[in-house]
Amino acid sequence: MAKVAVVVLSQDSVVTARRLMTALPEAVLYGSAQRTTGVDISFDNFKATVQELFSQDIAIVGLCAAGILIRSIAPLLQDKLHEPAVIAVASDGSAVVPLLGGLHGANDLARVIAMVLAVSPAITTTGDIRFQTTLLAPPNGYKLANPQHGKQFISDLIAGKKLRLLGSAAWLESAQLPIDVQGRLSIQVTEKSVLPAADCLVYHPTTIVIAICRTAENTESIAVVLSEILTSQQLSTVSIAGIITNEDCVGDEGIRSIAQDYQVPLRFFPGQQSVTELASLIAEPLVHENHGGYAVAISIASQPIDIKTIGQGLGKLSIIGTGPGSAEWLSPQVKTVLQEATDWVGYSTYLNLAEPWRQGQVRHDSDNRVELDRARLALNLAAAGRAVVVVSSGDPGIYAMAAAVLEAVDCDRNPLWQQVEIQICPGISAMQAAASLVGAPLGHDFCAISLSDILKPWSAIEQRLTSAAQGDFVIAFYNPISSQRTWQLEQAKELLLQWRKPDTPVVLARNVGRPGQSVIIKTLGDLASTDADMRTMILVGSSKTRLIQQPHQKVWLYTPRHY
Ligand code: SAH
Repeated sequence: MAKVAVVVLSQDSVVTARRLMTALPEAVLYGSAQRTTGVDISFDNFKATVQELFSQDIAIVGLCAAGILIRSIAPLLQDKLHEPAVIAVASDGSAVVPLLGGLHGANDLARVIAMVLAVSPAITTTGDIRFQTTLLAPPNGYKLANPQHGKQFISDLIAGKKLRLLGSAAWLESAQLPIDVQGRLSIQVTEKSVLPAADCLVYHPTTIVIAICRTAENTESIAVVLSEILTSQQLSTVSIAGIITNEDCVGDEGIRSIAQDYQVPLRFFPGQQSVTELASLIAEPLVHENHGGYAVAISIASQPIDIKTIGQGLGKLSIIGTGPGSAEWLSPQVKTVLQEATDWVGYSTYLNLAEPWRQGQVRHDSDNRVELDRARLALNLAAAGRAVVVVSSGDPGIYAMAAAVLEAVDCDRNPLWQQVEIQICPGISAMQAAASLVGAPLGHDFCAISLSDILKPWSAIEQRLTSAAQGDFVIAFYNPISSQRTWQLEQAKELLLQWRKPDTPVVLARNVGRPGQSVIIKTLGDLASTDADMRTMILVGSSKTRLIQQPHQKVWLYTPRHY
């Protein structure tokens, strides 16, 4: 089922929400931060939250007045073919009204919710009421080839025309369609490519499975070979459920690009099976050809298949940054990646930050100090076909896990990891978030230095501090101090004071974006090691960094863009 967000504005709706969610195991409960407790994700701004969910194509069930939902989403309404389901439910559960997304299962979702709440859904789409199905929004496993003809077709049916059913599909057979062998309209279910006509709706079932293996040096593009085979068999590419191959061929660029071109999953199987053997896992192969260095066999399953349930997928490893802490600073890309993953790997504190987005993903908590082991664990899980997310705080590329993962890849040269697709999703780093709280101290040249001498010698840190001070850079200190490292900050201060005036402004930003956030501006001369801990970000101004105090305004700190 598509992703569903249940959104509540008041505490009395939480009970109704949880009740209807018993039928929606994947749903996440969003609640107003000011007015609700016990929800999965809290929000401050209803309209912005609903708009974001809508643009991410997430079905919305709002336990609120239909009007509030409509007004919030109104500016985004453009295209009924591309809108998620939006359903208003009365806060006491007495009414269920599908508002939008009729083509994306809104009516079915409303029926499910109404059933749990023991009320009748307020379904208003005529075709749906009459035929007990949404012809324009077939269930998973079927794709409508000619949606452009749908509206007229349904009007004709409502006007009393009869139809013939060519091919079979359980969902059409259980619907209440006016089927008649003499019908002038028709519905065709087929994996063959057919020219769509106004009086025939064509549904392509995802039943075609293509087994491809490399057998020799390729002399032709597999894309061309395959397209010729599909054309000669008159098969529609829309019906392709997926590509399968054996383990040995999983790294083949041609095979990978085919899966990408058709936007279907690529699954692989252990051992060295021939394409015929692979295709036979689905059904008796229809075609078997050797061409241009590739062997191809095609099978057609009797029912649409979810290819992700067979073989193994290509491993994926995403290294993400959650930002410094606040959910508002977590990028939409990161949210999606977290939700689409099967496994989360990370230091417990960071996994806890992401916990509101967890929907059944397996957590692999680890200690903060063992970055390389954590990287290896993540790579091994991904190599086994899992979709793994390594969770860092802030930005994953700044003193964090992206470098650790690449270090593991570089040092271990493990061949199993080679087929893992790695992506790095940026986050807001602590220095950016800290800077934004006081103004624009990073407005001109700056550098970042970690004061931790666990991974590098103190002499290297001293040398960098000196160069940064001489270069008059604004300096962002990460890892300024910890329970084991207590003297480094004092030494850094003494060193900087050789080059920078004692009245240089210093920002101490602690727990930025998290509960207990505090921001203090001091001078370098007054900086004491008791001012900071391991959750503090320190920004030391350059000789040009200035404070501005305007009447009725807070003090701002900035570094001018010109010298
Ligand atoms: N990848 C992270 C940095 C990890 S190093 C990022 O890009 O932000 C850990 C250090 O970052 C901490 O010792 C602290 O100096 C700083 N830090 C991380 N999160 C912080 C926060 N919420 N508030 C203040 N400092 C933070």
